[in-house]
Amino acid sequence: MTRERIVMGEPLSVEEEVAHSALRPRRLSEFVGHRPLVEKLRISIDAALQRGEPIDHIIFYGPPGLGKTTLAHIVAHEMRAPLVTASGPAITRPADLMGVLTNLEDGSVLFLDEIHRLPVTVEEFLFPAMEDFQVDFIIDKGPFAKKINIPLQPFTLIGATTRAGLLSAPLRERFGILHHLDFYPPEDLEQIVRRSASLLEFPFEPEAAGLLAIRSRGTPRVANRLLRRVRDYAEVKVDGRLTAGTVIEALKLEGIDEAGLDELDRRFLRTLLKVYRGGPVGVEALAATLNEETDTLSDLVEPFLLKSELLIRTPQGRRITESGRRHLEQNPANQDPSGRIPAAPPSSQGSLTLGSDGAN
Ligand code: ADP
Repeated sequence: MTRERIVMGEPLSVEEEVAHSALRPRRLSEFVGHRPLVEKLRISIDAALQRGEPIDHIIFYGPPGLGKTTLAHIVAHEMRAPLVTASGPAITRPADLMGVLTNLEDGSVLFLDEIHRLPVTVEEFLFPAMEDFQVDFIIDKGPFAKKINIPLQPFTLIGATTRAGLLSAPLRERFGILHHLDFYPPEDLEQIVRRSASLLEFPFEPEAAGLLAIRSRGTPRVANRLLRRVRDYAEVKVDGRLTAGTVIEALKLEGIDEAGLDELDRRFLRTLLKVYRGGPVGVEALAATLNEETDTLSDLVEPFLLKSELLIRTPQGRRITESGRRHLEQNPANQDPSGRIPAAPPSSQGSLTLGSDGAN
């Protein structure tokens, strides 16, 4: 049961992405945070420009909303190269990529989002394109099958993935540059909030930007989304200025607490604490009790709880930490107002699934 969550790193709608694109940094110098990555990219871009060659193929990996697409746009912009974008799930056969590849201009940047979702046949088709800028296309079948070799213009492939572990080794090895994007510290997010608020011409008090940053789950897309929600609230309810009080009130209305957790995060921790006595417990058992998909928990709930040290993963399974307990216990507002504890289904209650997935 995947539902829309305001704190998710993924885009919620096309309209939101269009609105956010105005906030997207265009140059490397505007990209906030991740200094070592930015430095290394600067060197790769300058070296490629000096040689007059396309930059090496690059892969960006990390959770959604941290700037992978933004960096692909920036690389193309800094290389003064055309950018072509496509998405892994939309490419099901080599023929789907054929048109894209043969139409690339010299030096183009091809951005492939969710690259881990390319089928193996498409991956294999991509290898000679990446290595030698050519593709082998088979036409016809059986005894009449013919292999045609088609040369391509030199280009740069930029792949983005939230699941680096799902990339096949042969594909990963064909990227010259691998960059990991991790959650942003609050001070970087504060800078992003300030930048976005200025671009939106939304007056703000300095401490309001800090409060919003802490509630943004280390994710720039969430920071920009919350900023826009808070702006709506401020425009309708108060005098249109972003104050600390407005941030607290507006986000309370959205169910987001001072650590940036929403109701699903809190239900997760509450269930772990009350039904499973704090753990350890396997994620499947938690998913069954919460009536959520295991993938939803491991992709969209756990990463931030782990990062915030409210949760740990042990070989035996998930465990709530002392801070996790404190977060629930010392914040009555975070507790289920009805005092209800979600009931565990008999199968998972009786035999707690310990540890099958704990080390992942
Ligand atoms: P991803 O591709 O990783 O899901 P995006 O590149 O689409 O994430 O980033 C989401 C939004 O967050 C963008 O619209 C951009 O405005 C903002 N953003 C991401 N990283 C940064 C950054 N380092 N500095 C400023 N804004 C950023």
